[in-house]
Amino acid sequence: MAQSDEQEIELYQGSKRIHPKWTKGIFSKWRIAMVLITQFVFLILPWFNYDGRQAVLLHVADRHFYFFGLVLLPSDLLFMSGILFMAAFGLFWWTTIAGRLWCGYACPQTVYTEIMMWFDRIFEGDRAARLKLEKAPWDARKIRIKSMKYIAIFLMCAWIGLTFIGWFTPIREVFKFNMTGTQWGVAIFYGFVTFLLAHIMREQVCKYMCPYARFQSAMFDKDTLIISYDPERGEPRGKKKKGEDDSKKGDCIDCTLCVQACPVGIDIRNGLQYECIGCAACIDICDEVMVKQGKPKGLIRYTTEAAMEKAYPENKFWTRLKRPRVVGYGLILAIIFTAWIIGIMNRQNVRVDVIKDRGVMVRYNNEGLVENSYTLRLLNASNKVQVVNTNVEGIDGIKITGIASDFELNPGDPVSIPVQVSIPPEMADTSNGKSQHIYFKFSYHVKGEDGTIRTFDEKAAFIKGTR
Ligand code: SF4
Ligand code: SF4
Repeated sequence: MAQSDEQEIELYQGSKRIHPKWTKGIFSKWRIAMVLITQFVFLILPWFNYDGRQAVLLHVADRHFYFFGLVLLPSDLLFMSGILFMAAFGLFWWTTIAGRLWCGYACPQTVYTEIMMWFDRIFEGDRAARLKLEKAPWDARKIRIKSMKYIAIFLMCAWIGLTFIGWFTPIREVFKFNMTGTQWGVAIFYGFVTFLLAHIMREQVCKYMCPYARFQSAMFDKDTLIISYDPERGEPRGKKKKGEDDSKKGDCIDCTLCVQACPVGIDIRNGLQYECIGCAACIDICDEVMVKQGKPKGLIRYTTEAAMEKAYPENKFWTRLKRPRVVGYGLILAIIFTAWIIGIMNRQNVRVDVIKDRGVMVRYNNEGLVENSYTLRLLNASNKVQVVNTNVEGIDGIKITGIASDFELNPGDPVSIPVQVSIPPEMADTSNGKSQHIYFKFSYHVKGEDGTIRTFDEKAAFIKGTR
Protein backbone atom coordinates (compact mmCIF):
# COMPACT_ATOMS: atom_id res chain seq x y z
CA MET A 1 0.00 0.00 0.00
CA ALA A 2 1.28 3.43 -0.87
CA GLN A 3 2.31 5.62 2.03
CA SER A 4 -0.24 8.29 1.00
CA ASP A 5 -3.18 5.83 1.43
CA GLU A 6 -2.53 5.44 5.13
CA GLN A 7 -5.01 7.13 7.43
CA GLU A 8 -4.93 7.83 11.10
CA ILE A 9 -8.23 6.86 12.71
CA GLU A 10 -9.14 8.32 16.10
CA LEU A 11 -10.62 5.46 18.15
CA TYR A 12 -11.68 7.75 20.95
CA GLN A 13 -13.89 10.68 20.08
CA GLY A 14 -13.89 13.33 22.77
CA SER A 15 -17.30 14.65 23.68
CA LYS A 16 -18.32 18.28 23.80
CA ARG A 17 -19.48 19.77 27.07
CA ILE A 18 -23.29 19.78 27.18
CA HIS A 19 -24.94 22.90 28.56
CA PRO A 20 -28.61 21.95 28.95
CA LYS A 21 -31.24 24.64 28.84
CA TRP A 22 -33.07 25.27 32.10
CA THR A 23 -36.65 23.97 32.15
CA LYS A 24 -39.52 25.02 34.38
CA GLY A 25 -42.43 22.58 34.03
CA ILE A 26 -44.01 20.08 36.35
CA PHE A 27 -41.36 17.38 35.86
CA SER A 28 -38.56 19.87 36.54
CA LYS A 29 -40.31 20.63 39.83
CA TRP A 30 -40.39 16.90 40.58
CA ARG A 31 -36.66 16.68 39.88
CA ILE A 32 -36.00 19.59 42.26
CA ALA A 33 -38.23 17.93 44.88
CA MET A 34 -36.29 14.67 44.52
CA VAL A 35 -32.97 16.50 44.94
CA LEU A 36 -34.28 18.10 48.12
CA ILE A 37 -35.74 14.84 49.49
CA THR A 38 -32.67 12.71 48.73
CA GLN A 39 -30.26 15.34 50.05
CA PHE A 40 -32.38 15.81 53.16
CA VAL A 41 -31.97 12.08 53.77
CA PHE A 42 -28.25 12.03 52.95
CA LEU A 43 -27.05 15.35 54.38
CA ILE A 44 -29.49 16.14 57.20
CA LEU A 45 -30.85 12.85 58.55
CA PRO A 46 -27.55 11.79 60.19
CA TRP A 47 -27.82 14.92 62.40
CA PHE A 48 -31.03 13.65 63.99
CA ASN A 49 -30.80 12.08 67.42
CA TYR A 50 -32.85 9.24 68.82
CA ASP A 51 -32.68 8.03 72.40
CA GLY A 52 -29.50 9.99 73.07
CA ARG A 53 -27.55 8.74 70.05
CA GLN A 54 -27.32 9.41 66.32
CA ALA A 55 -30.62 8.17 64.86
CA VAL A 56 -29.11 6.74 61.66
CA LEU A 57 -25.61 5.36 61.96
CA LEU A 58 -23.93 2.42 60.28
CA HIS A 59 -21.29 2.22 62.98
CA VAL A 60 -18.66 0.06 61.34
CA ALA A 61 -16.14 0.22 64.22
CA ASP A 62 -18.76 -0.90 66.78
CA ARG A 63 -20.38 -3.25 64.25
CA HIS A 64 -23.82 -1.81 65.11
CA PHE A 65 -26.21 -0.40 62.49
CA TYR A 66 -28.73 1.99 63.98
CA PHE A 67 -31.88 3.18 62.27
CA PHE A 68 -33.94 5.04 64.87
CA GLY A 69 -35.29 2.26 67.19
CA LEU A 70 -33.91 -0.57 65.05
CA VAL A 71 -30.42 -1.87 65.84
CA LEU A 72 -28.84 -4.42 63.52
CA LEU A 73 -25.73 -6.41 64.37
CA PRO A 74 -23.43 -8.56 62.23
CA SER A 75 -25.58 -11.52 63.35
CA ASP A 76 -28.49 -9.80 61.58
CA LEU A 77 -26.83 -10.28 58.21
CA LEU A 78 -30.03 -11.90 56.94
CA PHE A 79 -32.00 -8.71 57.59
CA MET A 80 -29.33 -6.58 55.92
CA SER A 81 -29.34 -8.91 52.91
CA GLY A 82 -33.15 -8.64 52.94
CA ILE A 83 -32.89 -4.86 52.58
CA LEU A 84 -30.56 -5.28 49.58
CA PHE A 85 -32.87 -7.86 47.99
CA MET A 86 -35.87 -5.56 48.48
CA ALA A 87 -33.94 -2.68 46.90
CA ALA A 88 -32.95 -4.86 43.92
CA PHE A 89 -36.41 -6.36 43.29
CA GLY A 90 -38.04 -2.98 43.97
CA LEU A 91 -35.88 -1.52 41.23
CA PHE A 92 -36.64 -4.40 38.81
CA TRP A 93 -40.36 -4.09 39.51
CA TRP A 94 -40.40 -0.33 39.22
CA THR A 95 -38.29 -0.36 36.03
CA THR A 96 -40.65 -2.84 34.36
CA ILE A 97 -43.59 -0.55 35.12
CA ALA A 98 -42.13 2.90 34.81
CA GLY A 99 -38.88 2.56 32.86
CA ARG A 100 -36.10 4.93 33.83
CA LEU A 101 -37.95 6.91 36.50
CA TRP A 102 -35.19 5.99 38.96
CA CYS A 103 -32.50 7.27 36.57
CA GLY A 104 -34.40 10.44 35.77
CA TYR A 105 -35.23 11.53 39.30
CA ALA A 106 -33.54 9.67 42.13
CA CYS A 107 -30.25 8.12 40.98
CA PRO A 108 -27.33 9.79 42.84
CA GLN A 109 -25.62 10.52 39.51
CA THR A 110 -28.72 12.41 38.30
CA VAL A 111 -29.22 14.16 41.61
CA TYR A 112 -25.61 15.37 41.92
CA THR A 113 -25.45 16.32 38.24
CA GLU A 114 -28.59 18.39 38.81
CA ILE A 115 -26.95 20.09 41.81
CA MET A 116 -23.81 20.81 39.77
CA MET A 117 -25.99 22.28 37.02
CA TRP A 118 -27.58 24.55 39.62
CA PHE A 119 -24.09 25.87 40.41
CA ASP A 120 -23.45 26.35 36.67
CA ARG A 121 -26.65 28.31 36.32
CA ILE A 122 -26.23 30.38 39.50
CA PHE A 123 -22.69 31.49 38.65
CA GLU A 124 -22.60 31.43 34.86
CA GLY A 125 -26.22 31.94 33.81
CA ASP A 126 -28.44 29.91 31.48
CA ARG A 127 -27.31 27.94 28.43
CA ALA A 128 -26.61 30.91 26.11
CA ALA A 129 -24.53 32.71 28.75
CA ARG A 130 -22.60 29.53 29.56
CA LEU A 131 -21.83 28.84 25.90
CA LYS A 132 -20.66 32.44 25.52
CA LEU A 133 -18.50 32.20 28.61
CA GLU A 134 -16.97 28.94 27.39
CA LYS A 135 -15.83 30.63 24.18
CA ALA A 136 -14.69 33.81 25.96
CA PRO A 137 -10.95 34.36 26.64
CA TRP A 138 -9.63 33.84 30.16
CA ASP A 139 -10.02 37.44 31.26
CA ALA A 140 -10.55 38.73 34.82
CA ARG A 141 -14.34 38.29 34.61
CA LYS A 142 -14.15 34.67 33.49
CA ILE A 143 -11.54 33.84 36.14
CA ARG A 144 -13.70 35.49 38.84
CA ILE A 145 -16.88 33.62 37.78
CA LYS A 146 -15.12 30.26 37.44
CA SER A 147 -13.27 30.69 40.76
CA MET A 148 -16.46 31.50 42.62
CA LYS A 149 -18.25 28.54 41.05
CA TYR A 150 -15.47 26.10 41.84
CA ILE A 151 -15.15 27.34 45.42
CA ALA A 152 -18.90 26.70 45.86
CA ILE A 153 -18.61 23.26 44.22
CA PHE A 154 -15.57 22.44 46.35
CA LEU A 155 -17.49 23.33 49.54
CA MET A 156 -20.46 21.24 48.40
CA CYS A 157 -18.21 18.24 47.65
CA ALA A 158 -16.45 18.67 51.01
CA TRP A 159 -19.84 18.65 52.75
CA ILE A 160 -20.83 15.50 50.81
CA GLY A 161 -17.51 13.75 51.57
CA LEU A 162 -17.64 14.54 55.30
CA THR A 163 -21.30 13.56 55.53
CA PHE A 164 -20.51 10.23 53.90
CA ILE A 165 -18.12 9.50 56.78
CA GLY A 166 -20.84 10.73 59.17
CA TRP A 167 -23.01 7.80 58.13
CA PHE A 168 -20.38 5.38 59.45
CA THR A 169 -19.00 7.21 62.47
CA PRO A 170 -20.68 9.85 64.71
CA ILE A 171 -21.27 12.86 62.47
CA ARG A 172 -20.75 15.46 65.20
CA GLU A 173 -17.19 14.19 65.67
CA VAL A 174 -16.64 14.26 61.89
CA PHE A 175 -17.66 17.91 61.65
CA LYS A 176 -15.33 18.73 64.55
CA PHE A 177 -12.69 17.21 62.21
CA ASN A 178 -12.02 14.57 64.84
CA MET A 179 -11.17 11.86 62.29
CA THR A 180 -8.53 9.23 61.61
CA GLY A 181 -6.24 9.45 58.58
CA THR A 182 -8.26 6.72 56.82
CA GLN A 183 -11.49 8.63 57.41
CA TRP A 184 -9.92 11.77 55.99
CA GLY A 185 -8.75 9.79 52.98
CA VAL A 186 -12.21 8.30 52.35
CA ALA A 187 -13.93 11.69 52.80
CA ILE A 188 -11.58 13.37 50.31
CA PHE A 189 -11.91 10.48 47.87
CA TYR A 190 -15.73 10.48 48.09
CA GLY A 191 -15.93 14.25 47.63
CA PHE A 192 -13.54 14.08 44.68
CA VAL A 193 -15.46 11.22 43.02
CA THR A 194 -18.69 13.22 43.40
CA PHE A 195 -17.00 16.17 41.69
CA LEU A 196 -15.52 13.98 38.95
CA LEU A 197 -18.70 12.02 38.15
CA ALA A 198 -21.30 14.75 38.62
CA HIS A 199 -19.44 17.82 37.38
CA ILE A 200 -16.78 16.61 34.95
CA MET A 201 -18.11 13.37 33.47
CA ARG A 202 -21.87 13.89 33.85
CA GLU A 203 -23.79 12.13 31.05
CA GLN A 204 -20.69 10.04 30.16
CA VAL A 205 -21.29 8.06 33.36
CA CYS A 206 -24.85 7.17 32.31
CA LYS A 207 -23.81 6.46 28.73
CA TYR A 208 -20.66 4.42 29.24
CA MET A 209 -20.18 3.44 32.86
CA CYS A 210 -23.54 2.66 34.45
CA PRO A 211 -24.22 -1.11 34.40
CA TYR A 212 -27.88 -0.55 35.24
CA ALA A 213 -28.36 1.40 32.01
CA ARG A 214 -27.12 -1.67 30.13
CA PHE A 215 -29.19 -4.41 31.74
CA GLN A 216 -32.41 -2.51 32.35
CA SER A 217 -33.46 -2.97 28.73
CA ALA A 218 -33.98 -6.63 29.69
CA MET A 219 -36.76 -5.43 32.01
CA PHE A 220 -38.42 -3.23 29.41
CA ASP A 221 -41.36 -4.45 27.36
CA LYS A 222 -43.90 -2.75 25.11
CA ASP A 223 -46.00 -1.75 28.15
CA THR A 224 -43.17 -0.07 30.06
CA LEU A 225 -43.63 3.65 30.56
CA ILE A 226 -41.19 5.57 28.37
CA ILE A 227 -40.74 9.16 27.27
CA SER A 228 -41.62 9.35 23.64
CA TYR A 229 -42.08 11.88 20.88
CA ASP A 230 -45.33 11.43 18.94
CA PRO A 231 -44.25 11.42 15.26
CA GLU A 232 -47.81 10.99 14.05
CA ARG A 233 -48.68 14.31 15.61
CA GLY A 234 -45.35 16.07 15.20
CA GLU A 235 -44.40 15.23 11.60
CA PRO A 236 -43.79 16.63 9.11
CA ARG A 237 -41.93 19.04 11.33
CA GLY A 238 -40.94 22.51 10.27
CA LYS A 239 -40.72 26.12 11.27
CA LYS A 240 -43.99 28.01 10.94
CA LYS A 241 -43.85 31.24 8.99
CA LYS A 242 -46.28 34.06 9.64
CA GLY A 243 -49.37 33.85 7.42
CA GLU A 244 -48.30 30.49 5.99
CA ASP A 245 -50.91 27.71 5.67
CA ASP A 246 -49.49 25.14 8.06
CA SER A 247 -52.43 22.70 7.91
CA LYS A 248 -50.21 20.08 6.26
CA LYS A 249 -47.45 20.46 8.84
CA GLY A 250 -47.15 18.56 12.08
CA ASP A 251 -47.08 20.18 15.52
CA CYS A 252 -43.28 20.10 15.85
CA ILE A 253 -41.95 23.49 14.86
CA ASP A 254 -38.39 22.17 14.83
CA CYS A 255 -37.29 24.70 17.44
CA THR A 256 -34.76 22.12 18.82
CA LEU A 257 -35.46 23.26 22.38
CA CYS A 258 -36.01 19.63 23.39
CA VAL A 259 -32.45 18.87 22.23
CA GLN A 260 -31.06 21.96 23.98
CA ALA A 261 -32.74 20.95 27.26
CA CYS A 262 -31.53 17.36 27.11
CA PRO A 263 -28.76 16.69 29.67
CA VAL A 264 -27.40 13.78 27.59
CA GLY A 265 -27.54 15.72 24.32
CA ILE A 266 -29.84 13.46 22.31
CA ASP A 267 -32.81 14.22 20.08
CA ILE A 268 -35.84 12.37 21.44
CA ARG A 269 -37.50 12.80 18.05
CA ASN A 270 -35.18 10.08 16.70
CA GLY A 271 -37.02 7.49 18.81
CA LEU A 272 -36.20 5.62 22.02
CA GLN A 273 -32.46 5.69 22.70
CA TYR A 274 -30.50 3.91 25.41
CA GLU A 275 -28.83 7.22 26.38
CA CYS A 276 -32.17 8.73 27.44
CA ILE A 277 -32.24 8.82 31.25
CA GLY A 278 -35.94 9.68 31.38
CA CYS A 279 -35.51 13.06 33.05
CA ALA A 280 -38.52 14.55 31.19
CA ALA A 281 -36.80 17.89 30.60
CA CYS A 282 -37.81 17.59 26.93
CA ILE A 283 -41.46 17.13 27.95
CA ASP A 284 -41.43 20.31 30.03
CA ILE A 285 -39.80 22.46 27.40
CA CYS A 286 -41.89 21.11 24.52
CA ASP A 287 -45.09 21.62 26.53
CA GLU A 288 -44.11 25.29 26.89
CA VAL A 289 -43.64 25.51 23.12
CA MET A 290 -46.99 23.83 22.49
CA VAL A 291 -48.79 26.23 24.84
CA LYS A 292 -47.22 29.20 23.03
CA GLN A 293 -48.33 27.69 19.70
CA GLY A 294 -51.87 27.21 21.01
CA LYS A 295 -51.55 23.43 20.65
CA PRO A 296 -52.29 20.74 23.23
CA LYS A 297 -49.41 19.68 25.47
CA GLY A 298 -47.91 16.21 25.17
CA LEU A 299 -46.14 16.13 21.81
CA ILE A 300 -43.40 14.54 23.90
CA ARG A 301 -44.96 12.60 26.76
CA TYR A 302 -44.89 9.60 29.06
CA THR A 303 -46.51 6.70 27.23
CA THR A 304 -45.83 3.10 26.27
CA GLU A 305 -44.68 1.60 22.98
CA ALA A 306 -47.89 -0.45 22.75
CA ALA A 307 -50.06 2.63 23.37
CA MET A 308 -48.17 4.52 20.66
CA GLU A 309 -48.97 1.61 18.35
CA LYS A 310 -52.63 2.03 19.39
CA ALA A 311 -52.84 -1.37 21.08
CA TYR A 312 -54.89 0.38 23.80
CA PRO A 313 -55.81 3.97 24.73
CA GLU A 314 -52.96 5.74 26.57
CA ASN A 315 -55.07 6.39 29.65
CA LYS A 316 -55.59 2.60 29.96
CA PHE A 317 -51.88 2.08 30.63
CA TRP A 318 -52.61 0.89 34.17
CA THR A 319 -54.65 -2.09 32.86
CA ARG A 320 -51.33 -3.57 31.66
CA LEU A 321 -50.00 -3.75 35.21
CA LYS A 322 -51.42 -7.29 35.41
CA ARG A 323 -48.80 -8.69 33.04
CA PRO A 324 -46.75 -11.66 34.35
CA ARG A 325 -43.45 -9.83 34.64
CA VAL A 326 -44.90 -7.07 36.83
CA VAL A 327 -46.91 -9.52 38.94
CA GLY A 328 -43.86 -11.81 39.28
CA TYR A 329 -41.48 -9.09 40.50
CA GLY A 330 -44.25 -7.66 42.70
CA LEU A 331 -44.92 -11.06 44.29
CA ILE A 332 -41.24 -11.68 45.03
CA LEU A 333 -40.98 -8.20 46.52
CA ALA A 334 -44.11 -8.71 48.65
CA ILE A 335 -42.83 -12.09 49.92
CA ILE A 336 -39.40 -10.70 50.87
CA PHE A 337 -41.01 -7.64 52.48
CA THR A 338 -43.50 -9.72 54.52
CA ALA A 339 -40.79 -12.15 55.65
CA TRP A 340 -38.55 -9.22 56.61
CA ILE A 341 -41.27 -7.51 58.67
CA ILE A 342 -42.23 -10.76 60.42
CA GLY A 343 -38.55 -11.50 61.07
CA ILE A 344 -37.88 -8.03 62.50
CA MET A 345 -40.97 -8.17 64.72
CA ASN A 346 -39.98 -11.55 66.14
CA ARG A 347 -36.30 -10.77 66.39
CA GLN A 348 -34.89 -11.26 69.91
CA ASN A 349 -33.21 -8.21 71.41
CA VAL A 350 -31.20 -10.44 73.72
CA ARG A 351 -29.11 -13.15 72.06
CA VAL A 352 -27.33 -15.90 73.97
CA ASP A 353 -24.77 -18.49 72.99
CA VAL A 354 -24.50 -21.33 75.49
CA ILE A 355 -20.98 -22.74 75.37
CA LYS A 356 -20.20 -25.95 77.22
CA ASP A 357 -17.00 -25.75 79.25
CA ARG A 358 -14.95 -28.56 77.74
CA GLY A 359 -12.19 -28.14 80.34
CA VAL A 360 -14.35 -29.49 83.20
CA MET A 361 -16.79 -32.06 81.81
CA VAL A 362 -18.58 -33.00 85.04
CA ARG A 363 -17.86 -32.97 88.77
CA TYR A 364 -19.41 -33.16 92.23
CA ASN A 365 -19.56 -29.74 93.86
CA ASN A 366 -19.19 -29.04 97.58
CA GLU A 367 -22.99 -29.48 98.05
CA GLY A 368 -22.64 -32.99 96.69
CA LEU A 369 -24.51 -32.13 93.46
CA VAL A 370 -23.45 -33.24 89.98
CA GLU A 371 -22.31 -30.14 88.20
CA ASN A 372 -21.53 -29.04 84.60
CA SER A 373 -20.00 -25.68 83.69
CA TYR A 374 -21.04 -23.44 80.81
CA THR A 375 -20.27 -19.97 79.53
CA LEU A 376 -23.22 -17.80 78.56
CA ARG A 377 -22.32 -15.27 75.89
CA LEU A 378 -25.01 -12.60 76.15
CA LEU A 379 -25.57 -9.80 73.69
CA ASN A 380 -28.03 -6.94 73.94
CA ALA A 381 -29.04 -6.13 70.36
CA SER A 382 -31.23 -3.20 71.35
CA ASN A 383 -30.24 0.28 72.43
CA LYS A 384 -31.80 -0.02 75.90
CA VAL A 385 -30.67 -1.83 79.06
CA GLN A 386 -32.37 -5.24 79.22
CA VAL A 387 -33.12 -7.09 82.47
CA VAL A 388 -32.44 -10.79 81.95
CA ASN A 389 -33.53 -13.76 84.05
CA THR A 390 -32.08 -17.19 83.41
CA ASN A 391 -33.42 -20.57 84.44
CA VAL A 392 -32.73 -24.12 83.41
CA GLU A 393 -35.06 -27.14 82.89
CA GLY A 394 -34.93 -30.66 81.60
CA ILE A 395 -33.93 -32.81 84.62
CA ASP A 396 -35.76 -33.00 87.95
CA GLY A 397 -34.11 -30.81 90.59
CA ILE A 398 -31.83 -29.03 88.10
CA LYS A 399 -30.65 -25.54 89.07
CA ILE A 400 -28.29 -22.83 87.84
CA THR A 401 -25.83 -20.69 89.77
CA GLY A 402 -23.37 -18.00 88.71
CA ILE A 403 -25.74 -15.49 87.12
CA ALA A 404 -27.85 -13.13 89.20
CA SER A 405 -31.57 -12.90 88.71
CA ASP A 406 -32.59 -9.57 87.12
CA PHE A 407 -29.20 -9.41 85.46
CA GLU A 408 -28.81 -6.02 83.75
CA LEU A 409 -27.40 -6.31 80.25
CA ASN A 410 -26.14 -3.12 78.65
CA PRO A 411 -26.30 -2.52 74.90
CA GLY A 412 -23.00 -3.04 73.16
CA ASP A 413 -20.41 -5.76 73.05
CA PRO A 414 -21.25 -9.31 74.18
CA VAL A 415 -20.52 -10.30 77.80
CA SER A 416 -19.39 -13.78 78.83
CA ILE A 417 -20.61 -15.21 82.14
CA PRO A 418 -19.45 -18.57 83.50
CA VAL A 419 -22.36 -20.47 85.09
CA GLN A 420 -22.76 -23.82 86.79
CA VAL A 421 -25.71 -26.15 86.35
CA SER A 422 -26.23 -28.90 88.88
CA ILE A 423 -28.56 -31.83 89.49
CA PRO A 424 -29.18 -34.00 92.58
CA PRO A 425 -26.83 -37.02 92.74
CA GLU A 426 -29.79 -39.44 92.52
CA MET A 427 -30.49 -38.06 89.01
CA ALA A 428 -26.93 -38.75 87.89
CA ASP A 429 -26.16 -41.62 85.60
CA THR A 430 -23.21 -43.79 86.47
CA SER A 431 -22.57 -44.86 82.91
CA ASN A 432 -19.56 -42.93 81.80
CA GLY A 433 -20.14 -39.73 79.79
CA LYS A 434 -23.94 -40.14 79.45
CA SER A 435 -25.53 -36.83 78.50
CA GLN A 436 -29.06 -35.46 78.37
CA HIS A 437 -30.57 -32.38 76.76
CA ILE A 438 -31.39 -29.50 79.06
CA TYR A 439 -32.97 -26.14 78.26
CA PHE A 440 -31.72 -22.74 79.34
CA LYS A 441 -34.80 -20.54 79.70
CA PHE A 442 -34.27 -16.84 79.24
CA SER A 443 -36.75 -14.05 79.85
CA TYR A 444 -36.02 -10.36 79.48
CA HIS A 445 -37.59 -6.94 79.44
CA VAL A 446 -36.44 -3.34 79.03
CA LYS A 447 -35.20 -1.90 82.32
CA GLY A 448 -37.69 0.53 83.87
CA GLU A 449 -40.49 -0.43 81.48
CA ASP A 450 -43.41 -2.64 82.39
CA GLY A 451 -43.72 -3.71 78.78
CA THR A 452 -43.74 -7.18 77.32
CA ILE A 453 -41.54 -9.85 78.82
CA ARG A 454 -40.02 -11.89 76.01
CA THR A 455 -38.75 -15.43 76.42
CA PHE A 456 -36.68 -17.92 74.49
CA ASP A 457 -34.87 -21.23 75.06
CA GLU A 458 -31.43 -22.50 74.23
CA LYS A 459 -30.78 -26.24 74.14
CA ALA A 460 -27.57 -27.66 75.64
CA ALA A 461 -26.17 -31.02 76.70
CA PHE A 462 -25.70 -31.95 80.37
CA ILE A 463 -23.26 -34.76 81.11
CA LYS A 464 -24.69 -36.92 83.90
CA GLY A 465 -22.10 -39.65 84.06
CA THR A 466 -19.07 -39.28 86.27
CA ARG A 467 -17.43 -42.65 85.95
S1 SF4 B 1 -39.38 21.14 21.60
FE1 SF4 B 1 -41.19 20.23 20.68
S2 SF4 B 1 -41.59 21.56 18.97
FE2 SF4 B 1 -39.53 22.03 19.57
S3 SF4 B 1 -38.27 20.66 18.31
FE3 SF4 B 1 -38.70 19.57 20.19
S4 SF4 B 1 -40.48 18.35 19.72
FE4 SF4 B 1 -40.37 19.93 18.15
S1 SF4 C 1 -34.45 12.71 25.71
FE1 SF4 C 1 -35.71 13.86 27.14
S2 SF4 C 1 -36.06 12.47 28.83
FE2 SF4 C 1 -34.38 11.62 27.65
S3 SF4 C 1 -32.57 12.41 28.67
FE3 SF4 C 1 -33.06 13.84 27.02
S4 SF4 C 1 -34.33 15.39 27.98
FE4 SF4 C 1 -34.26 13.67 29.38
